[in-house]
Amino acid sequence: MRPLPDWLTDNRDTASLAAMLAPDSSSSLEALAAESKAITLRRFGRTMTLYAPLYLSNYCSSGCAYCGFASDRKTPRHRLEPDDIRRELAAMKKLGISDILLLTGERTAAADFNYLQRSVEIAAQEMQRVSVEAFPMSVNEYHELAGCGCTGITIYQETYNRERYEALHRWGPKKDFIDRLETPARALEGGIKSVGLGVLLGLSDPVEDALNLYRHLRHLGRTYWRAGMSVSFPRMRPQTGGYEPPFPVDDRLLARMIFAFRIALPDTELVLSTRESAAYRDGMTGLGITRMSIESRTTVGGYDDPENKEKGQFEIFDDRTAKEFCLALRKKNIEPVFKNWEPAYNGPSDGNASTVHPEKAEPCH
Ligand code: SF4
Repeated sequence: MRPLPDWLTDNRDTASLAAMLAPDSSSSLEALAAESKAITLRRFGRTMTLYAPLYLSNYCSSGCAYCGFASDRKTPRHRLEPDDIRRELAAMKKLGISDILLLTGERTAAADFNYLQRSVEIAAQEMQRVSVEAFPMSVNEYHELAGCGCTGITIYQETYNRERYEALHRWGPKKDFIDRLETPARALEGGIKSVGLGVLLGLSDPVEDALNLYRHLRHLGRTYWRAGMSVSFPRMRPQTGGYEPPFPVDDRLLARMIFAFRIALPDTELVLSTRESAAYRDGMTGLGITRMSIESRTTVGGYDDPENKEKGQFEIFDDRTAKEFCLALRKKNIEPVFKNWEPAYNGPSDGNASTVHPEKAEPCH
C-alpha cells in the first residue's frame, strides 16, 4: 500500500479553519456569515457564475456504494452519440447556458478517453466554457483534453479518510485512493487551467474531511500557483441503491463550512449545486457561494427531452427553471453570469462558440 503524502498530515496553517469548524467554536454562525459576505462582495462583486451538467453516459466499471450508476445497479446503460450531444447542447443554449460540465462514470470500453475527447471537441464548438467530471487520466491525456477545449476538471476525493474510502469503493479503478488524490495535480500538469475539488458530505466525518480538503487545496496552490481552483459542497441525496449516509450534515454545519472556506480561501470559487433546496440556495446567495448549477439533469442527456423519466445518478432538489432561478438572484441584487472570460484570455474566438449575452438570454427576462 502506497503511503499517504506528507501534505495530508501538514498542520501548518489549518488552525484557523479548524477553530471555525469546531463543534464548540467561539465564532457564531452569524459572525462567520457577515465576514464571509464581506469577503465575497469584495472579491467577486454581486455576481453568480452559472453552469449546467450534461451526463454523456452512465456506463461505469466501479462499485461506489453510494452511487446510482455503480456497476451492480440495475440501471439501463447508454451514452450520447455525437448527434445526441449536439441536440442536447442546442437545448441547453436555448436556456442561456454556455458553461457546461460534461460527466461520465469510470473508464469503460463504451465511454473511454477517445469518446470523451470527441465529446469535448463537440461541446467546445458550442459553449463558452467546457469542464469535465470523469475518470482520472494521465498527464498526456489531460494535455490532449486541454487541446480540445477543456479548461477545467472536477474530481472529488469523496472522502479523505482512507479506511472509509476503501470500504465505500468496493471494486473498480476508483478503489485506488492515492491515484485519485494525485489526479488534480496531473490535470494541472497536463495544462488544464482549473480544478474543482470536494468531498461527498455524508460519507465520513465532515470536519476531518473539510480540513483534509483544505490541505489538498493549499498543497496544489503552492505548486500550481496560477491554477484556478474551486470547492464544491455536495451533500448526499437519495439515489438508486438507497445508500443512507452515516454522517449526515445539517444545514447549519454546511453553512459553517461554506463561510469558513470563504474566509480561509478568499479567492477560491465556492460551488453549490441543485442538490440543495431552492430555499437553501437562495439563503446562501451573496454570503460565500460564487458558482451554482441550474436546470440540472442527472440522467444521460435530458435537456432535449424534458419528459425523460429514467432515473438519474441522484435526485436533484432545486428544480427551478433557469428563468425562475435568475429572477431569484436578481431579487437579491445578484447578477447571473452565463459568459466566461476564458475565450478572451485564450485569444480571438474562431467564431464557432455562440455567446448568449446574459441580458439577452431568454430565461432571465
Ligand atoms: S461515483 Fe462515479 S465512479 Fe463511482 S459508481 Fe458512480 S459513476 Fe461510477
